Amino acid sequence: MLRLNKVTNHIPGEFYTKFEAHNPGHSSKDRIAAYIIDKAEKDGKLKPGDTIIETTSGNTGFSVAMACVIKGYKCILAVSNKSSKDKISLLKTMGAEVHVCPSNVASTDPRSYYEVAKRIHKQIPSSIYINQYFNSLNIDAHYYSTGPEIWNQTKGELTHLVACSGTGGTISGSARFLKEQNPNIKIIGIDAYGSVIQKYHETGEFDEEEIYPYRIEGLGKNLIPAATDFEAIDRYVKVSDEDSAFAAREIAKKEGMFVGYTSGAALHGVRLLAEEGEFTKSSKVVIIFPDHGSRYMSKIYSDEWMAEQGFTTPEEKQPISKPIK
Ligand code: PMP
Repeated sequence: MLRLNKVTNHIPGEFYTKFEAHNPGHSSKDRIAAYIIDKAEKDGKLKPGDTIIETTSGNTGFSVAMACVIKGYKCILAVSNKSSKDKISLLKTMGAEVHVCPSNVASTDPRSYYEVAKRIHKQIPSSIYINQYFNSLNIDAHYYSTGPEIWNQTKGELTHLVACSGTGGTISGSARFLKEQNPNIKIIGIDAYGSVIQKYHETGEFDEEEIYPYRIEGLGKNLIPAATDFEAIDRYVKVSDEDSAFAAREIAKKEGMFVGYTSGAALHGVRLLAEEGEFTKSSKVVIIFPDHGSRYMSKIYSDEWMAEQGFTTPEEKQPISKPIK
């Protein structure tokens, strides 16, 4: 847990980040890989030499692949073609077999990474499929680790938790634990324009009209993940690709923290909330920064990539996040 000293100075309250890049696999996903694999071993579902399969935007894959190297399992990953080249190379470096699948198809399409992973799982009898979007152990992993850590590290004084919502495991598990300690803690999820999550939370409806391609990896979804406990979350805020990219770059330059794309999304979400007057002098806000910036060198930390996306300089930007179709 680190205090933010510059990027939130204009906002009332104290702001802290749970900076998950310091985990051995450089992201929050170490927690679910360790928890789910340990549990499968204890339940007798894994023996040495077995295969672990997962669908992943990259970070879970890296954590699972790392655990497989250490524990002697084979690792097969179905990855979206939206994932950065850096992430895919990292997975292969960790010895994983990687299947790159199109991101612009429905989750039920046989080419989607969900269907590819399911097919491989069926073909290999001595395998487990982690299935992070639909596995309640994803929530439990954070209920037993992230939630208690946040509670203890803030001495129970936090007023808000702001976290990105992809599978929803991080926010849901942390929220369940924190709300048990103090139901007044406000839990706010960050969603992307192009994702169905916020609308589903507000209306209970899955609205296909909300779906269009966006660039942030690991945040938002085109389906409703069972690993999200919508009841535990108070509200969602949507952020754009462009604002999130600039916010991540700003965190590196002003705080000296080399964060991933969704950390920028989380900071931008906090700023939008601040514009609404969400925070007061007595707010103690914890923001989760899920991973490390090194995985985005060819994306948000490349000036050429930023220019190719048509992302203008921060000075020219509007103060309020807008959807980019
Ligand atoms: N940020 C990044 C970079 C991620 O990879 C993920 C996981 N998909 C998240 C945020 C969101 O975490 P969760 O899946 O626990 O909601």
